[in-house]
Amino acid sequence: MALKLYNTQTRQIEELVPLKDQEVRMYTCGPTVYHFVHIGNFRTFMFQDILRRYLLYKGFRLTHVMNITDVDDKIIINARKRNQTIADYTKEFEEAFLEDMKSLRIQQPEIMPKATEHIQEMLDLVSTLQQKGLTYQSDGSTYFRIDGFSDYGKLSHLDSSATVQSGRVDDDEYTKENPRDFVLWKAKREGEEWWSSPFGEGRPGWHLECSAMSMKYLGSSFDIHCGGVDLVFPHHENEIAQSEGATGRPFVKYWVHAAHLIVEGQKMSKSLGNFFTLRDLLAKGCRPRSLRYLLASVHYRKQLNFTFDGLEQSEASIRRVNDFIVRLREIPDEIAANPALEQRVALARSQFEQAMDDDLNTSAALASIFELVRDVNIQIEEGSLGGENRDQVLEFLRGVNSVFDVFDVEEQQLDDDEIRQLIEERIQARRDRNFQRADEIRQMLMEKNILLEDTREGTRWKRRN
Ligand code: AMP
Ligand code: ZN
Repeated sequence: MALKLYNTQTRQIEELVPLKDQEVRMYTCGPTVYHFVHIGNFRTFMFQDILRRYLLYKGFRLTHVMNITDVDDKIIINARKRNQTIADYTKEFEEAFLEDMKSLRIQQPEIMPKATEHIQEMLDLVSTLQQKGLTYQSDGSTYFRIDGFSDYGKLSHLDSSATVQSGRVDDDEYTKENPRDFVLWKAKREGEEWWSSPFGEGRPGWHLECSAMSMKYLGSSFDIHCGGVDLVFPHHENEIAQSEGATGRPFVKYWVHAAHLIVEGQKMSKSLGNFFTLRDLLAKGCRPRSLRYLLASVHYRKQLNFTFDGLEQSEASIRRVNDFIVRLREIPDEIAANPALEQRVALARSQFEQAMDDDLNTSAALASIFELVRDVNIQIEEGSLGGENRDQVLEFLRGVNSVFDVFDVEEQQLDDDEIRQLIEERIQARRDRNFQRADEIRQMLMEKNILLEDTREGTRWKRRN
């Protein structure tokens, strides 16, 4: 079965056929590191991680590039306010982003280029566009002339009169020949960092960096380009104009966009007080795996309504599977296998793959796991499964977990020190009246077959056997 994805450009679900055999080249717009990344951003990054992992599951070779936007107007202004260089200012947020990715088990793409390290490539691209007559200068800035690129609007399907630029990088008021034109290279502003260039001293436009970096690492035509829906216009539309304007070749075959995350039914915003980073949630006792599950479990083209209730339900779903795995492991080798189970597992596998092939229908894919858990649980209770069956189910869950990565499929042995540390953390959590965390630690240890007993003398533990 082939993987099918919804292509924003054609507005159709299409079979993924890479430009080169079994090799997928994918670019995903990365974070702007002017602040801690919020859980809305992570909704999009999580969708990209699931896509990435499922491509690997299907056996494709993958080169995935995710940029780090470490220069834009907000960064330049904030760095100046703090009297820091751009590099010093962004370092903290970039490191935090990488740490958050690790906590959420988002795999590192093969290549993570930084914008400030690709200024030359961006300038080369502007030179090419200039040679093709697609640029003009005004007030020290260089603009892309949209009238010179007849395909403008083919991604966002906006009619040309509506494609007036708006948004975060283009809000400087410079003189343009046509309001739809967008800036490639911006004139420097007094007191701010700048680069010298054949187009004058200045800084790059945001759209330019993604065209320059994606083509540098993936070539002038590649397979998949992703981002959140807010990037379709103008960012991705402008990337197409710059890239195809320069090379004369089709830039991207499949454009794939994730719908937004909203919070308790409302847009996430600082003023509403519903703006969360991963760190905010961790401070409230959330486990990264619950957020990972929640973000991954809603189909990427559906708006995701983040609620604390949803977070708890996600944790409960993970526990259901983990408890099941503990029970499954207790099936001894000696019992003969039930031959019918192999087919039941094969059915679950084909349901899982069909759902994922169908434009990454993650909720249906997860449903296939829970149905299997329910059926197999009954058989475990009846005592009708043998060691071979146990391994068949574990093998299926291993495949599932290579994509979702939220279940404890592999047996993790804790050593005595780790157990003592967790018990200490639980005692502290109880002192802080953080009973949710205390219960979680108890549960987590129980999943690892460690039982706790609170006595007057303190907390004792023993291994369940
Ligand atoms: P930025 O750092 O603003 O460039 O955003 C990084 C990624 O997060 C982009 O792909 C955006 O489209 C995406 N994004 C921003 N806000 C949200 C949101 N509320 N829900 C989902 N994705 C978002
Ligand atoms: Zn981008």
